[in-house]
Amino acid sequence: MATPARAPDLADIERESVESALDRLGHPRFHARQIFQWIYRRGVTDIAAMTDLSRELRDTLAKEFTLTTPALAHRETSADGTEKFLLRLEDGRHIESVFIPDTPSNTFCISTQVGCAMACAFCLTGKMGLVRNLTAAEIVGQVRVLAGALNMRAARFNIVLMGMGEPLHNYDETMKALRILADEHGFAMSPRRITLSTVGLLPALERLAQESFMPNLAISLHAPSDVQRGELVPINKKYGVGDIVDACKRFPLRKRSRITFEYVLLAGVNDSPQDARRLARLVAGVKAKINLIPLNAAPGIPFERPSDAAIDRFARIIAEHGVTVSVRKSRGRDIRAACGQLIVEGPKKSAAQQLAVMM
Ligand code: SAH
Repeated sequence: MATPARAPDLADIERESVESALDRLGHPRFHARQIFQWIYRRGVTDIAAMTDLSRELRDTLAKEFTLTTPALAHRETSADGTEKFLLRLEDGRHIESVFIPDTPSNTFCISTQVGCAMACAFCLTGKMGLVRNLTAAEIVGQVRVLAGALNMRAARFNIVLMGMGEPLHNYDETMKALRILADEHGFAMSPRRITLSTVGLLPALERLAQESFMPNLAISLHAPSDVQRGELVPINKKYGVGDIVDACKRFPLRKRSRITFEYVLLAGVNDSPQDARRLARLVAGVKAKINLIPLNAAPGIPFERPSDAAIDRFARIIAEHGVTVSVRKSRGRDIRAACGQLIVEGPKKSAAQQLAVMM
């Protein structure tokens, strides 16, 4: 016998779909606004708590819909104020989300997948492989949980899709999540406050260029040539450096906005003065800024962080070429919340995971 289809999740649909559902159920569409306010602004996790809706409508909604919220399984605070949240999903899988205070704004670093298929050589999440995509409800759910746990429902914050997963590898759910986050009756996020970070899956990048809700774009470049990048970011064998940079040149940008190129600095691998010059020349035709990320080392990751002198030298050469450059301050490294350090135990633990768990 087929299992009965699960009721749709109110936290997984855009407001227009809530309106159509209300229509179908014989209730006025405007209740969708109240429902959005309850879920996203007031943080309710139970339909019964939406007390300005009639009892009858609440009962109907509870029959027709579920309302899922990731469960806060563990919370850890770093000496620098960064907080890492371990969230448990409906199917028992776990993801991590990170709160980074004062950077200069408050930032939520959100996951888009359980694990990641990209297998970048320096990233711990990559060691997990891809377990599954997150739903839009689970992506937005991280923001709901963090905003509640941090007492920040009424506060302004930025969102970076730089947690676990490759957002463009989970395109539809990620875009739906962004539309829900943007809804004026929910979090009302401006696209300028959201940054999507990607290895540069070309077809998805071209699709993104057509979207009406356009987040800031960050490209994980990490090397100035295909030979070097191919060793670090396996998908480069399919979508090379030249093609990605060309797509960035065509990418529609808002006034005064720029594409960020992220560049993880690895000692002796991609941190030479020649690499810096090639990188600066490579992005010369793009409205770009370069964000250098000194490696966050971890057991099982076969690279080292360059010396501060090497990092400074690299940054200086780029600046001398007239390209804006910044060095990302590592946050939350003591609790393994920094870039590339998010990993949760899967059913099968890889050697790197076992080591990471022992840390
Ligand atoms: N999959 C997306 C977003 C997640 S990673 C992407 O690749 O862009 C966010 C950033 O952290 C990426 O630039 C990623 O390359 C970087 N990163 C991964 N592992 C790292 C590590 N060990 N040290 C420093 N940065 C790392």
